[in-house]
Amino acid sequence: MEYQSTRDPSVKMSASQVIMQGISPEGGLFVPVSFPDLKASFENMAKMDYQELARFLFSLFLTDFTQEEIEDCVKKAYSPEKFGGKEPVRLVPLTGTGENKYLLELWHGPTCAFKDMALQILPHFLGTALKKQAGDQTALILVATSGDTGKAALEGFKDVEHTRILVFYPKNGVSPMQQLQMQTQEGENVFVCAVEGNFDDAQSGVKAIFTDEQIKARLKEHGVFFSSANSINWGRLLPQLVYYFYSYFELYRTKALPSLSDRINIVVPTGNFGNILAAYYAARMGLPVKKFICASNANRVLTDFISTGVYDRRREFYTTASPSMDILISSNLERLLFALCGENHQTLSGWMNELSQKGCYQVGDSVKEKLQALFFGGSCDDVRTAAVIQEMLSKEQYLCDPHTAVAVDVYRQYLANSQDNTPTVIASTADPYKFASSVLQAIGQPKEKDEFENLIRLEEFSGVKAPLQIKQLKEKSVRFTEVASKDQLRQAVLRCLPQI
Ligand SMILES: *Cc1c(COP(=O)(O)O)cnc(C)c1O
Repeated sequence: MEYQSTRDPSVKMSASQVIMQGISPEGGLFVPVSFPDLKASFENMAKMDYQELARFLFSLFLTDFTQEEIEDCVKKAYSPEKFGGKEPVRLVPLTGTGENKYLLELWHGPTCAFKDMALQILPHFLGTALKKQAGDQTALILVATSGDTGKAALEGFKDVEHTRILVFYPKNGVSPMQQLQMQTQEGENVFVCAVEGNFDDAQSGVKAIFTDEQIKARLKEHGVFFSSANSINWGRLLPQLVYYFYSYFELYRTKALPSLSDRINIVVPTGNFGNILAAYYAARMGLPVKKFICASNANRVLTDFISTGVYDRRREFYTTASPSMDILISSNLERLLFALCGENHQTLSGWMNELSQKGCYQVGDSVKEKLQALFFGGSCDDVRTAAVIQEMLSKEQYLCDPHTAVAVDVYRQYLANSQDNTPTVIASTADPYKFASSVLQAIGQPKEKDEFENLIRLEEFSGVKAPLQIKQLKEKSVRFTEVASKDQLRQAVLRCLPQI
């Protein structure tokens, strides 16, 4: 399997190259040159457990990895100890109220958010690629995070050979639980540093380091190069295909779907458009999907795009109860548009240039029609999010986090609009205890200053147990307290490389 850039037809690379590079030199994103059609294999795939399915799918795309290498990556990433059960994901039917919906819980991993599904395996993909391409070099992963990605990346890269990771987070821009998760991170190769300022300051600081030729040259002398773990890396998207196939076959195995040609809908609470794009790619490979339902919070740039064909980021940015979806530039949309415009590099580059120069672009009618045939978009603000959390608990005895609540609400908008009662898989992306105070507030309970008090209150009220990983944070010692100003980030980078 070869990969091409969305913006330059001359760029062609292998899987291990695209995993190491993350992004194409001219700014495009890597996409596979083709998608195999798997319909003829469905009977077989329906018999596979999660790890088998993952191995099967990865072997189609990581064609310069050996079977042993793939098996090793999968085993290390999705072990039952890490995900608290034989299978790393769970499909929970919530059909009691007459809705034909199934919650696909993707948050049973070490950091309690769906990012673990990809970030538990990306480090092993990268480690394998490094061995092939770079001999004895070390990758230094730089991450700027607004919360979930930082912790999931730290946990994934912890003690992985030939890698070091440094995470920058905005000092006053993450939740207390998220900060504590990062400050107490264990591992010999991990580093965490707070940045004075907001997420944009951290992000632009990291970008400046990535393009600083002087520091890159200095690292190179010591066999170190920069790499990135954010969701434009193909190595983060590929693992997300697996659970859409898995949930489909799980519906078939439990007889919720009578045959392997029945269709489903898929709902995804969306930020950077990575998770929902993985569902679309699964459909390109034969997964029978009727509608992709793209759920946004008050930052409804995608909702508007799907209904008008105009992508316009020039709008107010809202800080919401579902912070991992607070985003105005959904990077992975570029990959979908590349497919919908017939893989026309020039057209696509034009839109992306307009986005960076003017802040907006408009797609033509034929792309808009294709988009609307496949996708339904809706948005849900914080008031509705809270109402959904409360209602799910009282009517369906299900405690859900704010991101998942946004998805449930938009699913209901779709239902009201279409009367389409096709079985629907809703991606549930975070453990409710990761956002304990928002959830407490939603269900009308007073919240305390201390997050651990909030955990206990929420447990008492809901009867659902908080995950140990979060409860145990209270006992862990804080390792990282460094705070850097925006222009001190280079020193922080050098400090995590003692050999330099
Ligand atoms: C990252 C994240 C999302 C958004 O996923 P994208 O792939 O960026 O669209 C949704 N929910 C949670 C909890 C997340 O951490």
